[in-house]
Amino acid sequence: VTIIDIDREPGLLRTRWSDGRTARFHHVWLRDNCWCTACRHPSIHERTLDTLAVSLDIQPAAASVDGGLLRIEWPDGHRSEYSGEWLEEHAYEPGFARPRPADRTPWRSTDLEPPPEVGYGEIVAGDEGLLRWLRQLREFGVSFVRGAPTEPGTVTALAERIAFLRNSNFGLLWDVVSKPVADSLAYTSVPLTPHTDLVSRSTQPGLQFLHCLVFEAVGGDSTLVDGMACAEELGRRDPAAFEVLTTTPVPYRYRSPDCDVTATSPMIRLDHRGELDEIRYSNALLAPLWCDPDRMPELYRAMHAFVSLLRSPEFTLRFRLRPGDVMCFDNHRVLHGRDAFDPQSGPRHLQGCYVDRDDFLSRLRLLESARPVPSPA
Ligand SMILES: [Zn+2]
Repeated sequence: VTIIDIDREPGLLRTRWSDGRTARFHHVWLRDNCWCTACRHPSIHERTLDTLAVSLDIQPAAASVDGGLLRIEWPDGHRSEYSGEWLEEHAYEPGFARPRPADRTPWRSTDLEPPPEVGYGEIVAGDEGLLRWLRQLREFGVSFVRGAPTEPGTVTALAERIAFLRNSNFGLLWDVVSKPVADSLAYTSVPLTPHTDLVSRSTQPGLQFLHCLVFEAVGGDSTLVDGMACAEELGRRDPAAFEVLTTTPVPYRYRSPDCDVTATSPMIRLDHRGELDEIRYSNALLAPLWCDPDRMPELYRAMHAFVSLLRSPEFTLRFRLRPGDVMCFDNHRVLHGRDAFDPQSGPRHLQGCYVDRDDFLSRLRLLESARPVPSPA
């Protein structure tokens, strides 16, 4: 698709395209998006043009289309150029909105037989293996790394193939073992129902890594469930419950001798397009619910409906970690849990860490695109 011509209208240019569509671009928008070296730093790619320096009623002195390029001369003699490709990508005309690629596949337990996995050696060897791993994490929200060395600290080096780690009160690298004095239920031997981690912080960590070093204890099988698939199922079966859980903020709080954090967010959060943005749920860290008294029974009913799906065998992937396995998952989408285990029957030692979602997606974009930062001309 190429840009073929423009019509001048009050306050804007209407662009005409080879496929018959038209798209409006306001004069102030065009001047504000000039990417010449005077308006944007050539190597840093950040704007040096100040929006307030552009008059709201600015008009081009001249505008033309030439060889797929829109050229504008402004009254002060400043010249701007915009390629058709860049204009098409950034057009805000409704008919130009690109369908988002379906890059996530919701799953039930039977859909992941076998679950997505990558060999440890592949990820360490080069960016091809790393990219395969990250694409699995984007599509399914889960991927298993097999054959990792069982040396303590291995999981941080693995996660750092993606980006720097996310810190918290539990530290950059945390040991999941049954402790006599624990500051989280994770560090006991009790069962953990499916949950996302660090729900009581305003930003939940994006990716979570759990590396199995030793596992001789009886019990302690792991579970994973796709919160996205469960949210979609809830929307089909019980639209009223879905509406409540996407619009009612739910409070969470974590307290220990050296930490007291709280956050409030809907259990199912949608983005501005209405697509799933984040699941946030942990039974252990739920704070007293607070909402319109008339809606409290409905909130409890909706929570029962959703959490029942999160715990149903239909959606639950069950497995026993083996030494050398690293379970990796998107903590904004996939919930994890484990059965109780008997700490007297043998040791169980996992190590874990987090990487934030921004840095996971940044790495993926960089690996998928050899292109430099695109400019309009
Ligand atoms: Zn400029």
